[in-house]
Amino acid sequence: MRQSSTLIPTLREVPADADIKSHQLLLRAGYMRQNASGVYSFLPLGKRVLQKVEQIVREEMDRAGSVELLMPALQQAELWQESGRWYSYGPELMRMKDRHGREFALGATHEEVITSLLRDEVKSYKRLPLNLYQIQTKFRDEKRPRFGLLRGREFIMKDAYSFHASQESLDEVYDKMFAAYSRIFERCGLNFRAVIADSGAMGGKDTHEFMVLSEIGEDTIAYSDTSSYAANVEMAPVVNTYEKSGEAEKELTKVETPNQHSIEDVAAFLNVEATSCIKSLLFKVDDRFVLVLVRGDHEVNDIKVKNYFEASVVELATPEETKEVLKCAVGSVGPIGVSDSVEVVADHAVKAIANGVCGANEEGYHYTNVNERNFNATYEDFRFIQEGDQSPDGQGVIKFAKGIEVGHVFKLGTRYSEAMGATYLDENGRNQPMIMGCYGIGVSRTVAAIAEQFNDENGLLWPEAVTPYQVHVIPVNVKNDEQRELGEKLYNELLDNRFEVLLDDRQERAGVKFADSDLIGLPVRVTVGKRASEGIVEVKVRKTGESLEVSVDNLVSTVK
Ligand code: ATP
Ligand code: MG
Ligand code: MG
Ligand code: MG
Repeated sequence: MRQSSTLIPTLREVPADADIKSHQLLLRAGYMRQNASGVYSFLPLGKRVLQKVEQIVREEMDRAGSVELLMPALQQAELWQESGRWYSYGPELMRMKDRHGREFALGATHEEVITSLLRDEVKSYKRLPLNLYQIQTKFRDEKRPRFGLLRGREFIMKDAYSFHASQESLDEVYDKMFAAYSRIFERCGLNFRAVIADSGAMGGKDTHEFMVLSEIGEDTIAYSDTSSYAANVEMAPVVNTYEKSGEAEKELTKVETPNQHSIEDVAAFLNVEATSCIKSLLFKVDDRFVLVLVRGDHEVNDIKVKNYFEASVVELATPEETKEVLKCAVGSVGPIGVSDSVEVVADHAVKAIANGVCGANEEGYHYTNVNERNFNATYEDFRFIQEGDQSPDGQGVIKFAKGIEVGHVFKLGTRYSEAMGATYLDENGRNQPMIMGCYGIGVSRTVAAIAEQFNDENGLLWPEAVTPYQVHVIPVNVKNDEQRELGEKLYNELLDNRFEVLLDDRQERAGVKFADSDLIGLPVRVTVGKRASEGIVEVKVRKTGESLEVSVDNLVSTVK
């Protein structure tokens, strides 16, 4: 590509509203421009890096057995109403109406669309498992769009969804996706860690995040150099997911009529900040207290179409310990109930505790999931991990680091397939809900994360695998015939040898050209200067600054 015929608008000054390196440099080096808050154009260089990352993602997804498709960004509200997320997702979901007044959302994620697709197209266990992915623009009306591509309101995501007839099959594909993610981020050259994560609003259980280590990361991860343990510090402190189970249906005898409190009341009582919970209820079971935080959207109560709530449960041995426990438990996903009323969900949650689906003992808080796999957590798991703690597998000491979440894998289970009726016929002709997994990568965020890890005071330093071009050929003075002609010759020769080359054929001062070249950050620079007449050029490695003079006959082999 000739620089004179592309668009690389470099800036000398640091843009005022860009506070981190990647954001500053991607703007200064002419890779992107902002249109609105959290909304960007990828300029030609930015588009090439994006494509490189996408290509790595595609290759690894294809290799892991996932198949590409493309779903619509414009999604009917009905699908989100079926899953319940129309009410629980909140203002981050961009909503709109068409000319007939029908409601739509701009895709923030695609569980609903793909679940409805599979519901219609897959009827038998013989068609499972299936693993499908897309690379597409997503929309989220983030409260604080910031840090350029790291937190946009319109951004590019790779999202994959898998469907299974058994838990074993999901486990197998989850492991494959996990391995593919590791390869993807390794190939991007990133320093990252896979960490145990909070399942958040997705309602999943097993889940990991892929975190790029960076000072400006918004997440804190706890890890140890001598152990494979690594977790997001905000990871849910293991409050169990309540599911319809025989156990929990048992009659409950010892729960008194719940006292109802507003979240503000409870927050004031406990001297903690009020959360986004729409309702909190304090129950008494024997001499113990149970706090149920019911989460959902305020709209829920008005719309009353298909009310959907999530409840977090904090079981309190003594009221004095409430405060500490509450701090840890707020934001976690606990028992999930779908019902018309807050009280019914809370009742489910309390029953789950009373029936031992989750329970407490004297040492602290001991949660046991009798449905699944006897997961035990003690009080230690119930507080935030701290630096200097021993790690949970007994190997090594916990360190903290900041991380940028570039990928996220979830075992969703049947949360969506049950709510939306995506079932298949099993070997015995019985209807079963499909078991699901979902797997996301922030493709545009990954571009920024790479830029954040690879730069110096002069500009970007792209790793080979994602650089927009490999070689920057710079005839210092294009008015000089020898320099211009040799530059052209080398440009063509490198192209013939399948290099990706950027030729600075602009009539600019040498200082401008070199400063721009440093900013743009291609791995190798070939300077065609005073010794052009002798057939000698300078080859410089951007990262190390190392340079050598090379005869043009040896250029291709040197650059290789
Ligand atoms: P975050 O915690 O940063 O808000 P998330 O957990 O909401 O991210 P997921 O729903 O897990 O995001 O989406 C999958 C991936 O999409 C994330 O791992 C991240 O890399 C990317 N992503 C999410 N939100 C944004 C955003 N606003 N801008 C750019 N990339 C994003
Ligand atoms: Mg988010
Ligand atoms: Mg997250
Ligand atoms: Mg996530």
